[in-house]
Amino acid sequence: MRLIIMGAPGAGKGTQAPGIAAHYGIPAISTGDIFRSNVKQKTELGLQVEAIMAAGDYVPDELTEQIVADRLDQDDAAPGFLLDGFPRTLHQVAALDDYLAAHDHQLDAVLSLTVDSEALIQRLLKRAQLEGRADDTEETIRHRMEVYERDTEPLLDHYRDRGLLVEVDGDGQVAEVAERAVAALDGVAGA
Ligand code: ADP
Repeated sequence: MRLIIMGAPGAGKGTQAPGIAAHYGIPAISTGDIFRSNVKQKTELGLQVEAIMAAGDYVPDELTEQIVADRLDQDDAAPGFLLDGFPRTLHQVAALDDYLAAHDHQLDAVLSLTVDSEALIQRLLKRAQLEGRADDTEETIRHRMEVYERDTEPLLDHYRDRGLLVEVDGDGQVAEVAERAVAALDGVAGA
C-alpha cells in the first residue's frame, strides 16, 4: 500500500498515521517528525530548518524532497508507506510522482481528514499547552493555516481529479476516526 494522509494543521494526521500504517504493515513517514528530530539533535539539517519551522513556513521543496527520497529508499518502505506531511506543494507532488515512476510504483490512495477550521484552531491551541511545540503559538498557528490553504489545499483537488482522494470525517474519538479511515481505504484501495 502506498498512501498519503492529508489534512490541515491539527486535523489529526500525526495522531492517525501510525495506527493506519500499522494496520497495513507499512511505515508511517512524517516529514514534520523527521525535521523535528533533526532540530532536537542539532544536525546540519536541523540547523537549516529550525527557524523556518518556528515561523510556520515550509522548508524548501528540493530539500524536503531529498529527505523523503532518502527515507523511501530504506528497506522498510519497499512494500509500501504512509506519507504524513508530504507532499505539501504541487512541486513536491511532481517529485513524488517522479520518484514512484522511477521505481515502477504508484499511489493507491490519498486519505484526507476533514475537520472544520474552528475545531482545528482549538485543537492546536490545546496541543500547544500539552506539548509546547515551538510552532504552536496562536500567531504561528494562523500563519500555518494560511500557508496550508494557499500551498497545500490545492493538492486535494489535484488528487481528486486523479481519482485518488478518499475523504474521511476527522471529527470524533481517535479510534472512531481510525476505523472510518481504514474502512474507507479498504473500500477503494483493494487492500
Ligand atoms: P502539522 O501536522 O501541524 O501540519 P507537521 O508536523 O506535519 O505539522 O510539520 C511541521 C512543520 O515542518 C511545517 O510547518 C513545516 O515547517 C515543516 N514541514 C513538514 N513537512 C513539510 C513539507 N512536506 N514541506 C515543507 N515543509 C514541511
